[in-house]
Parts: sequence; C-alpha cells; structure tokens
Amino acid sequence: MFKKSFVFAALALVGAAFVPVITPNPYYIHLVETIMIYSILLFGLDIVVGYTGQVSLGHSGLFGIGAYTVGVMFMKLAAPLWLILPTSILVTAFFGAILALPALKVSGPYLAMVTLAFGTIIQILINEMTFLTEGPLGVKIPKPQIAGIKLDERDFYWLVCLMLALSLLIVHRILRSHLGRAFEALRGSPVASDCMGVSVYRYKVYAFVISAGFAGLAGSLYAYSEQYISPNTYNFELTVLFLLAIIMGGRKTRSGAILGATIIVLLPKLLDDIEIFRIVATLSCALIALGALVGLMKKWLTLNAVLVPVIGTFCLAVFSYQLENITDWRLSIFGLMILFVVYYLQDGIIGFMNKLLAAQKALSDQKALGLQETGLASKGQQENAFNPNWAASSTSPQGSELLVAKGVLMQFGGLKALNQVDLVVKRGEIHGLIGPNGSGKSTMMNVLTGIYTPTSGDIDFKTQTVIGKTSSEIALSGIARTFQNVQLFGEMTALQNVLVGLHHTFKSNLLDVALSTSRYQHEDLDATHRAYALLEFVGLGDLALEQARNLPYGKQRLLEIARALALDPELLLLDEPAAGLTAPDIKELISIIRKIRDHHITVILIEHHMDVVMSICDTVSVLDFGQKIAEGKPLEVQSNEKVIEAYLGGSAA
Ligand code: ADP
Ligand code: MG
Repeated sequence: MFKKSFVFAALALVGAAFVPVITPNPYYIHLVETIMIYSILLFGLDIVVGYTGQVSLGHSGLFGIGAYTVGVMFMKLAAPLWLILPTSILVTAFFGAILALPALKVSGPYLAMVTLAFGTIIQILINEMTFLTEGPLGVKIPKPQIAGIKLDERDFYWLVCLMLALSLLIVHRILRSHLGRAFEALRGSPVASDCMGVSVYRYKVYAFVISAGFAGLAGSLYAYSEQYISPNTYNFELTVLFLLAIIMGGRKTRSGAILGATIIVLLPKLLDDIEIFRIVATLSCALIALGALVGLMKKWLTLNAVLVPVIGTFCLAVFSYQLENITDWRLSIFGLMILFVVYYLQDGIIGFMNKLLAAQKALSDQKALGLQETGLASKGQQENAFNPNWAASSTSPQGSELLVAKGVLMQFGGLKALNQVDLVVKRGEIHGLIGPNGSGKSTMMNVLTGIYTPTSGDIDFKTQTVIGKTSSEIALSGIARTFQNVQLFGEMTALQNVLVGLHHTFKSNLLDVALSTSRYQHEDLDATHRAYALLEFVGLGDLALEQARNLPYGKQRLLEIARALALDPELLLLDEPAAGLTAPDIKELISIIRKIRDHHITVILIEHHMDVVMSICDTVSVLDFGQKIAEGKPLEVQSNEKVIEAYLGGSAA
C-alpha cells in the first residue's frame, strides 16, 4: 500500500511537470504550483498527524516562518536562493522543536489548543515586528535568480516540481526507515515504544522538527511564488485547511497529501462559481449513486451504508440549481462536505479507495491469495537459515545476581501496591512471580521498567541502579518486556513491530536515511533478516506481512515476545503471557520460554496458570497485597501454608 501510494504520487508529479507545456495560461500554472507547494507542507504535516498521531494547528505559523525567512533574508541581506532555502528550512525546523515542547506534556484537544496559540503568536509577531518584517504592509519578493539568471514563471514552476520530487523521495525514505517506524510506533502505543528503547520524548520532537523543515521549504517557495507576503495569510483558516487536507486526502499516504492539497486549493475556487459548483454537485451525485449501485450489486456495501450519502448528494445537487448565488452558502457547504468526509471516509479518500480495492481483491481472487501465502511460507523457510544472532552472549557466570530489588515501596495515594518488596533474580533462571489479582505483580514490572518510579527502595540491574532512568534507557540497558494487555503497534505489520524492537541496531541518522547511504542500507538489510529470524523463532514466519491488529490473540502475544527479544535483552519480563491462550498455544508458549532460557536470557514470568509456573520456573516469589509472602522452589512454594491460604486456596490442598 505504501509503495503504491508513492508510485501514484510520483506519476501525479510527472503529470504536473508537463502542465506549462500543455497550457501557457499563468492562472492554471500558478494553481498547480500552489497545490505542489501545499503538498510539500502536507507531507511534513502527515508525519506529525498521520504517523505520530499528534494534532498540530501550528503549521500555518511554521509556513509563515518559512515565508518570512525568505522575506527578511531577501530584504535585509539580499541573500541568494541557494542560501535562503536551506536557512529557511533550518530556521523553521528550529521553531518546530519549540512547537514540539507542548506535545511532550499534553495531547488531544489540549495540544490542539496550544499549537493553535503557537500559530497565533507567530502571526502576531510577524505583524508587530515591523523592524524586521514590515508588519501589515508585507514584503514584495521578486522571483529568485539561479547563477545570475532570473527565473521566469515557468522556470520557477519547474523548480517547485523539483523540490516536490525531492521532498517526496526524502519523506518516502524517512517513513520507510527506522525513523518512520519510530513515529508510527508512538501512535500505536507510546508505552511500548518507550519499553522498546524508542524514546517517545525524542521521536516526538524529531517528528515536529522534520515536519517543520518541510513547512519551511513550502513557506519559502510560497513566498517566491506569490511574490508578496503579508501576515494575514498565515491565519487560523489556513491551518484548519491543512489539517482537513490530511483528513480528506487520507493520512499516511503521499498520494493522499497531494489529493488533499488539490482539494483545499480547488475547493474555494469551486465554491466561488455557481455554474461550476452545479456541475460538480451533479457529477458527484451521479458518481456516488453509481458507486453505491455497483457496491450493492457486488454485495460490498449494505443499503443502510449507501442511503445517506446518495440522498445527501442528490439533495445537494438539487439544491445547487435552486441557488442564485453561492457566496452566502460557501462556508455551510464546505462544512457539510467536511462532515461527510469525517463521517463516511475516516481513512480519507485514498484510504477509502485502497479499502475498496482490497475488498474487491479479497473477493475475486481467493486463489491468488492462497498462492501468495505459500510463497510467503517458503520465504519464511529461507529466513530460518539465518542465525538468530540476538541471543545475549552473557559474559557473567550463570547463577550470579542480575537484578536486585530492595525494600521497594510503590504507593498510589493511600494504597501500597508494593510494600517493602525484596526481589533477587539470578542469571539464567526463569523466576516466577505469582499472586492473586491486584497483589502488585504488574506494578512490580512497571517499576522495574521505569514506567513507575517507586516511592522508595532500590533496584539494581547489573549492579547499576535503574531508579531515575527513563523507560527507554532501561530498555536499552537490557530489560525487555511484554504487557498484560497486549501493546502492539496495531497498524504496523508483524515484521515492522519486530523491527521497532531492533531500532537500537540502527546507527544511521537522518542524513543517512535521506541519502540512503550504504551504512543505512546495510543496517536495514541486517535488521530485516534478524526480524524474520525472530518471527520464525516464535513461529510467526508466515504472518510477517500481516497487520498486527489482524492477528489472532494468541499470535499477538507471541509477536510481543518476538519484539521484546529484538531488544537483545538480558532480562525478559513476561506479564501473563498465557492469559487468553488455548491449550495448544500454551504448550507452544512453554517451549518458546524454554528456548529463550536456553539462549541465556533470564526471565521473570508472571503467570496465573499454575501448571506453566510449576513446570518451567526455577524460583517462585509470591506476592499478596503488595507484600512478598513466600519464595523458593516451585514445590516448596506450592506447599507453603501462607501461599495456600492467600492464593492457591482449596485447589492446592
Ligand atoms: P496484579 O498485576 O498483581 O494483578 P497490579 O500490579 O496491576 O496487580 O495492581 C496492584 C494494585 O495497585 C491494584 O490494587 C491496583 O488497583 C493498583 N494500581 C496499579 N496501578 C495503579 C495506578 N496507576 N494508580 C492507582 N492504583 C494502581
Ligand atoms: Mg497484572
């Protein structure tokens, strides 16, 4: 899907490059130019909105900063284009980092408000700092020169084409790299990202900075394109339009961004002219009716699903012929369209079309699908030949202390979820942690992985304290985990999920990724092999390309283990891995945990299934009401009076 969208976008770009050849009309050339400039901004905005799942209403402010960097550098320094463009990108990227700061603290509607305030402040600053920006008067900027030759409208158009092509390539490379996966992981599960060593903090800032860089480029091209900039342009309406473009076009696709840009540039023009509006309303009514008819006949859609859109567009078409003049209705019609898209096309237009295509494909060629699956399976077999070199080569002797927790107290208000708990985990062991529901087992894991900071007590891992370290630092120091409530990155494939776990193996930076250097390619290939090997290890080799959210529950749990192993951990924490699994799945799980131990990885296992605990644990600690009430070999613990009373109850007796 990702590739296809890139190809569509590239084709659209090639088409656009020919526009000045086909029509000399400067109006149309300028229109397409604006669409391309907006597309560059939307590629960037999509990183923040579509991938990391943050809201930004500050992008018109960033766009303005890009434009005004051109204005100021031209006016005050008469700087040339080759200096202005990169400076503009860097300056805007810097402001992107500032815009990211609130995103680290708040999210959702609060973030929307704060970013909106950012945009407004930028607009006011541009307006007020007359010594720099000429204030409301605005700045006139002629078309730039390259090597002493002044570009005309057409030359500049091609420059924009070139910049769009470059942006497309770079954004494509970023998003398919480990950086893109980190952004996507943030949206899928911030907690899991942190526990995979992908710092949510850092990658949120990265996303805003990269996104702002594109906004800066777009803003500076816009300044040259319009040849005049003034503060009013970078207002609230523009920022909402940008967000709408992503929603309508469809997030997480490049073609969606281009389509979104086309819509927001053309829609206002469309709603200016009643004649054109009538034609478009009639056409969309006919198209939707036709689509609904086909959908009903092929049984892709239900009558209920198509009724409202068909009647709605029909009424809109009839209404358009009743109207004398459209200006008064512009905003209402605009609003209605938005409502329609948000309600019916939640993945945007491109997302909707992709879904339709997928549904059609699934229906029409089951056979081809079967073939594909066997193809995948044989690929999996091949990958199996790779040596899974993730196994921690522990240099310290088996049986020495790996993790020592002393007097851990975790208080939530008045509740002591953990009360003076001591825990010593020895290298190479499978250490069971059991206890009734609510006894503090998961809290212990959260404390060990830095999700909670204990109220008091010490925790040393490999003789270094973990207290005060962030989750991602702890993860990188060698503690990996799974979650009681599965925390996968749902929209990503099984393979990509594991690749997020392998994020730590990438040393490539943004430049390596953008230029696709051999260092990056090498790391990417290596990580892919390792990810396949890990998937094979937990028996998911042939589901590598399946979206995580579509996997059956048992497989999701196994995938979480594979992802955790990708961290190359010395200590693996498993929080009720067998919960919700069928008997054969549990058997498989036990054998996988044994294999993990054979690779010298120490395991802490929280489990309710006593047969699992008793069969594989070397030591078992028992918690009750936040206190450790017993510890020892499984058999000893099983016959301990206190444990029977607190936990095993009558069943053990
Ligand atoms: P277990 O995993 O053993 O079933 P937990 O560790 O999840 O138990 O919970 C232990 C106790 O701590 C429960 O009473 C739970 O309600 C409480 N608890 C856990 N996390 C929080 C939190 N973030 N805020 C308040 N109470 C919590
Ligand atoms: Mg729990």
